[in-house]
Amino acid sequence: MIDDLRFDNQFTKSLPADFHVGTGRRQVEQACYSRVNPAAVAAPKLVAHSAEMIELLGLESAEALQPGFVEVVAGNRLLAGMDPHAACYGGHQFGNWAGQLGDGRAIGLGEVVDINGRHQMLQLKGAGPTPYSRTADGLAVLRSSVREFLCSEAMHHLGVPTTRALSLVTTGEEVVRDMLYDGNPRPELGAIVCRVAPSFIRFGNFEIFASRDDRETLQCLADFVIATEFPHIEDPTPHRYAALLREVGERTADMVVEWLRVGFVHGVMNTDNMSILGLTIDYGPYGWLDNYDPNWTPNTTDAQHRRYRYGHQANIAQWNLVQLANALYPLVEEVEPLQDAIQHYAERFQTKWSQMMASKLGLSSLDDSRDQSLADEALSVMQTAETDMTKFWRELGRVDCSASLDSVERTKPLLNSIYERESATRTQISGFVDFAERWAARQRELGVNDVERQMSMDAVNPKYVLRNYMAQLAIERAEEGDGSMVEELLDLMRRPYDEQPDRNQFSLLRPDWARTKVGCSQLSCSS
Ligand code: AMP
Ligand code: MG
Repeated sequence: MIDDLRFDNQFTKSLPADFHVGTGRRQVEQACYSRVNPAAVAAPKLVAHSAEMIELLGLESAEALQPGFVEVVAGNRLLAGMDPHAACYGGHQFGNWAGQLGDGRAIGLGEVVDINGRHQMLQLKGAGPTPYSRTADGLAVLRSSVREFLCSEAMHHLGVPTTRALSLVTTGEEVVRDMLYDGNPRPELGAIVCRVAPSFIRFGNFEIFASRDDRETLQCLADFVIATEFPHIEDPTPHRYAALLREVGERTADMVVEWLRVGFVHGVMNTDNMSILGLTIDYGPYGWLDNYDPNWTPNTTDAQHRRYRYGHQANIAQWNLVQLANALYPLVEEVEPLQDAIQHYAERFQTKWSQMMASKLGLSSLDDSRDQSLADEALSVMQTAETDMTKFWRELGRVDCSASLDSVERTKPLLNSIYERESATRTQISGFVDFAERWAARQRELGVNDVERQMSMDAVNPKYVLRNYMAQLAIERAEEGDGSMVEELLDLMRRPYDEQPDRNQFSLLRPDWARTKVGCSQLSCSS
């Protein structure tokens, strides 16, 4: 029974609370959060749930079908032990300090101790206004909630660190949104996702106190994060805050490398959307690369400067870490250890990126300059013709390395990844052939067994990703009251590295109609 969930609310128990209550919009000082209850909704209906997450919380998966479950994850019923609250944070948005932001439409319910003994905060996104809602309504629409729900779970199964999603409900209420910010507001279905993570603390939670010279609350928060999430940092001196930055940097580097591996573009890497645990957080106008274009950004708000484009994400993560370093400076009062931590991020990213690229190529490292050239060549050949990134890497594992094979015959699997293959020029094709030949020759030299190599490559080069058009199709159906495609994509993405022959259509190149369609190639922050 969901009523059996036991809560241990470290965050609200250990950190200072706002003295005021209620949803009145305000600047909240010297407090990490404000207590606020979710708004009741008219007619909650479960669209989908994650069976894995229900089990992680120690419940039976059939529990999701009980009426009591829906009432809880829609915010209509609070359980004993919950302590609903919205967190106070600030942030740099698109490079500029934005002041207080905070959970404007997310309400933390409380922390469940999961079956592994870890704390898991349940958080409702779209559950009504909070003191941090500013001029907005605190609500979310079905469109963006389907995207958050599916992508959180897909990322997890792809092996990318992420916050999780327990459930997706519609509220039975309408929410008005101007999807493209073009003066065409329309009513959409309201929805709530119950997100789950050990902690939702962001870089911005630190920045807000530093910006207000509130050293006391800043230290309180930093000590709390160290004690609960990084307890192995035992240094009693102020250097422990630099050690914290170093750990956050490591996790951030690892996360971004995984994004690059699977072709994910976050779309809004503001410092308020950067998790202190290195989890992918806040699925808004994110997108997946179909054709490999390092300059692509899905976010229409970012179309001009492309600050958050695919190929720039590691640099932006570093810029964000520098903001976190600035925020921690008052606790350390020395620049050097903080700078070292940033330097460590840069090195860690390079090392991990290199290992990741080697694994995608079926190599053990890129230490040999010939292997580094193969990696460079793979990334450049994909840009000589419009080439599907996911398909390219997956098919590379199927390229036959035997010496006797005709070179064009060998390259055939790779050519399947080219969009408009029929109109590819001879020069474009020969670039692919040259790459395949060089790659095969190197593999022959290394002498790895073909079957073993394919298996190891398949484990890092997914067959399926949550292509933008796929989520969009699921949204269109869900908006008509049919959640079956949400279920299907959730199930598809449970095993993204496995061949699923009856679902082969989802591994094909993006269909032509999706090339410029809203929701498939362009996404706004309106959600
Ligand atoms: P985002 O760009 O989605 O990360 O949001 C930035 C800030 O705006 C955060 O403080 C959000 O809580 C807030 N926000 C976004 N949408 C809404 C909304 N519909 N109602 C209230 N606050 C919102
Ligand atoms: Mg956010």
